[in-house]
Amino acid sequence: MLIKHHIITGTAISLFLLFFTQINITSAIIFLATSILIDVDHYLAYWQKTKDYSTSYKKIKKWCLTKGTTMEIYFIFHNIWFLTILIALVKYNAVFTPVLLGVSLHYICDSIWDVYWYKRGLIKKPYRRWII
Ligand SMILES: [Zn+2]
Repeated sequence: MLIKHHIITGTAISLFLLFFTQINITSAIIFLATSILIDVDHYLAYWQKTKDYSTSYKKIKKWCLTKGTTMEIYFIFHNIWFLTILIALVKYNAVFTPVLLGVSLHYICDSIWDVYWYKRGLIKKPYRRWII
């Protein structure tokens, strides 16, 4: 999913949580930030694969939407192991709950995006990145 989609969904859900639940403003901000910022691993993957240390969002977005869909890429924050660590952190201390929820929202949005791309034949193994 593109960053603009994560910003829209993260903002909408965090505002919903802020106004219709008992979440505080700090937790809502953390939720919003984590629902967006875990895509920083796309930069890490791009830098690792290309050795081009550009920070251009347009360049990395184009790479992810073309070559990034066909290469074997490891996204450090987009996998079951990162989610497992977050669940363990929440068990340890509930202060990590907004982080887990923000990341979970991000995963749900990305999964919807993966199914959309898979149905159009643009990616072959939509859930592979989640299990490695
Ligand atoms: Zn993502």
